[in-house]
Amino acid sequence: MERREDLNPDLYWHGVTAKRRPDQPALPHERGRGAGGSSSVNGLVAVRPEAADVDAWEQDYGARGWGFTEFLPALSRMETDLDYGDMPYHGNSGPIPVIREPEEYWGDVDRALHDSAREAGLPWFDDYNAPGSTGVARYPGNSNRDGLRISTNHGYLDPARERDNLCIMGDAHVVAVESAGDRATGVRLLGGTVVRPAADGEVIVSAGAVHTPAVLLRSGIGTGSELRRLGIGQVAELPVGVGLQDHAIVFIDFTPHEGRYLTQDLRPTNVAVHYSSGMPDTGPNDMCILGTNHNYWFGNADSGLAVQLNESHSRGSLDCRRPTRSSIRCSSSDCSRTRRIFRGWSTVSSARSTSCPGRHSAGSWWANPAPPGGGGRVRTGQGRRARLFHCAHGRRG
Ligand SMILES: Cc1cc2nc3c(=O)[nH]c(=O)nc-3n(C[C@H](O)[C@H](O)[C@H](O)COP(=O)(O)OP(=O)(O)OC[C@H]3O[C@@H](n4cnc5c(N)ncnc54)[C@H](O)[C@@H]3O)c2cc1C
Repeated sequence: MERREDLNPDLYWHGVTAKRRPDQPALPHERGRGAGGSSSVNGLVAVRPEAADVDAWEQDYGARGWGFTEFLPALSRMETDLDYGDMPYHGNSGPIPVIREPEEYWGDVDRALHDSAREAGLPWFDDYNAPGSTGVARYPGNSNRDGLRISTNHGYLDPARERDNLCIMGDAHVVAVESAGDRATGVRLLGGTVVRPAADGEVIVSAGAVHTPAVLLRSGIGTGSELRRLGIGQVAELPVGVGLQDHAIVFIDFTPHEGRYLTQDLRPTNVAVHYSSGMPDTGPNDMCILGTNHNYWFGNADSGLAVQLNESHSRGSLDCRRPTRSSIRCSSSDCSRTRRIFRGWSTVSSARSTSCPGRHSAGSWWANPAPPGGGGRVRTGQGRRARLFHCAHGRRG
């Protein structure tokens, strides 16, 4: 599958690339831009972290006060869970609505994944985000009942726009943090303007996992060796741009049986299977499989399954030379878990496909703000495993 190259530059950064190994070609690495950042373009999956992972922040990495017990109230505060808001571990008055699609709005792939996983003996646990949940679940998403994306822009910024003490500047690209000694005194924008905080204020850089280290390195905050390589004078010695981490995900194309089809009207993924690989040094639910009724990052027409590592061990680094590159070296544990999945899928996937005029309606579940683009092709063909595609088509439209 080819990555799309036509992503709206008002909503996506272009020119950021990533590779897993030095010998691989650099591929586009999507990052959202503008108000809401990546939450304006992301996959709308609203899943909580594994409790054991959060506890490790405190126990293994020294983040005192960030264990799961302390963290849970913050998770609840940010959500209005429209299915389970009355449960003690959920919220019902936060700015971000969380929904799970009822079965009538699932696509063929969702149903097939559900049925196959249940047949394989995995338990049904409807609330993916409940403590202790594992197995097959409806996949929670951050949208309202009408299917509209609720990003951090909608949930947090919009209600605060009228505040007297808030100034939002558009088209303001931060080049670097200005500092005096070891104190940050403001930020310098492209064009030279310097924005300074109030006398007792702070400078908080929150440009995301890729651009924050880039801003810091340009400000002279980083390791001596990296800053020397970039020719930037050092202001502070800190391990910036190392330890980069992301969850690897593999999209696998499937070809439904003749007569079955996948529709863009549906949310792309409504069912997920999270489970534990049991491999050494992995925690609970380190793996996840999702159905993809359609996949707009690849042009919308492809359907299939996606397999992701919920727990990544690989670490990478940011390379600030132009074009900006980031790379994550795949750890042996991550590689072997991914390979194991590939071996499994080779028994269920079919390579054959033909294209035919698609059945698409004008509307799309991805109602705002990033339209999915006009892919007009739906694949049909013969899958090897009948039970993966045995249900009626989606009914929303
Ligand atoms: C394609 C994609 C799909 C994803 N899917 C999901 C999902 O389904 N579920 C989920 O939970 N997470 C998902 N994520 C991850 C999630 O969106 C991010 O973890 C989250 O948005 C990070 O928030 P952030 O505020 O740290 O950074 P971002 O959301 O990246 O925001 C950073 C902001 O800083 C701005 N910025 C950057 N550099 C500068 C600069 N020099 N000057 C001024 N502004 C700057 C950017 O334009 C952006 O507005 C996805 C991410 C991507 C890219």
